[in-house]
Amino acid sequence: MAIYMENIIALCKRKGFIFPGSEIYGGLSGTWDYGPLGVALKNNIKSLWWKRFVTDREDMFGVDAAILMNQNVWKASGHVGGFSDPLVEDAKTHKRYRADHLLEDAGVDVKGMSLDAMDVAIKEKGIKSPDGNALGDVRQFNMMFKTHIGPVADDDSISYLRPETAQGMFVNFKNVLDSMHPKIPFGLAQIGKAFRNEIAPRDFIFRSREFDQMEIEYFVHPDNWQDAFEHFRSQVHSFVADLGIRSDRVHELEIAPEDLAHYSKRTIDFEYDFPFGKKELYGLAYRTDFDLKSHADASGQDLSYFDEESKTRYLPHCIEPSFGLDRTTLAVLSDAYAVDEVGGEKREYLKLSPKIAPVLVSVSPLLKNKPELVGVARKVYSDLKKKFGRVSFDDNGNIGKRYRRQDEIGTPFCVVVDFETLEGVKEAAAGASAAGISAGMTDTVTIRYRDSGEQERVAIADLATKIEGLI
Ligand code: ATP
Repeated sequence: MAIYMENIIALCKRKGFIFPGSEIYGGLSGTWDYGPLGVALKNNIKSLWWKRFVTDREDMFGVDAAILMNQNVWKASGHVGGFSDPLVEDAKTHKRYRADHLLEDAGVDVKGMSLDAMDVAIKEKGIKSPDGNALGDVRQFNMMFKTHIGPVADDDSISYLRPETAQGMFVNFKNVLDSMHPKIPFGLAQIGKAFRNEIAPRDFIFRSREFDQMEIEYFVHPDNWQDAFEHFRSQVHSFVADLGIRSDRVHELEIAPEDLAHYSKRTIDFEYDFPFGKKELYGLAYRTDFDLKSHADASGQDLSYFDEESKTRYLPHCIEPSFGLDRTTLAVLSDAYAVDEVGGEKREYLKLSPKIAPVLVSVSPLLKNKPELVGVARKVYSDLKKKFGRVSFDDNGNIGKRYRRQDEIGTPFCVVVDFETLEGVKEAAAGASAAGISAGMTDTVTIRYRDSGEQERVAIADLATKIEGLI
């Protein structure tokens, strides 16, 4: 298992997907930098999400709120008082650990366990720190990054890097009502950074201190929350399928009442079988009217909704599907990572869906020193690039090496211009005026499929349509 994860991490670094943050200075724990292919993959995932949940729908509105918010937002939301994880310290090294994680590692079920119960369990079981030393008492540790706004560092200037994007939507609920006049049910959607001072970041980009979330706050009449909950429950599964993730690796976990967050009346976690175990990928929560009510009370603003039809005023309830973008990226990479054998050689590659692969098509001339081949290949490349964007030109090394390189980064289709193409070009040019067709209509290229390794001849004129049909 561990080797498998190491292989994915190594591939990500080697091929320019993901690098350790601030690496030339020895790194910064819990931070990761996305390289050229990583950012392309991430952007494709974001676009797929945004299309599904915002632009394809009539009931969803996008927002992009500031990361820094008035500290009162976080007081009202409950984060200043309660956004914490149980921390325990190595008495000798003073290294800090998540108490619940140490207990889980020792085989203890921590569901519903209070802080005191964790303390007792650690002592009773004689659990030591990973360095073998005694542990101190378990205490709560607030995970928000605190900072000061402006030149004066006093209590009034305190702000926090947002630990979730959600609150940026709740505080803009009234602005959207007043500007867009939506009818309930409707949702707000946002993609953006969130920051958590995780006690123990780990498992690559699974648990980091800076990450992206894609969140929806969907507002409904209090009587209709169950319908919306079920709708998003199935939408989560369809989105995961759209990403090309195997559905049998995604599991629902109904959160027990005693483990629900303070704002939630019902939560389902969607877990994925990561190489390091079954862990939370997404959450779906029924947040009731907790947030709008808290913000209305704390700000003194009326955040209610007036229903024109029934002439009634009420505080909407909220369903929140929350998607971690980095965990999505990791699930996509874990699911796509594959090893097989081609021509007696080991092949390590990514079976990424054509919908999100950083490079959709790679175009090559069979030989790079034949100007006729290169000329046609360049033309095919630029036509495809105009249409799809995610197209690369690759003339390095021999064809076998190029295929291997493209397989490694998950490129689903490789197009090669060869001598047969040139024959077609010549014939088409000769017959062009007589037949009234232009050169390029009859000439063909090979298209090679990543997963099967099979090749097929396709007319250049049909290439874009063919590829489009495969996305
Ligand atoms: P966990 O229990 O794993 O710490 P959580 O229940 O605190 O997660 P939520 O508060 O529900 O997570 O956050 C919503 C989503 O944000 C999660 O489902 C996950 O995809 C993502 N997420 C949360 N914390 C992190 C993190 N430290 N690194 C990367 N993604 C995260």
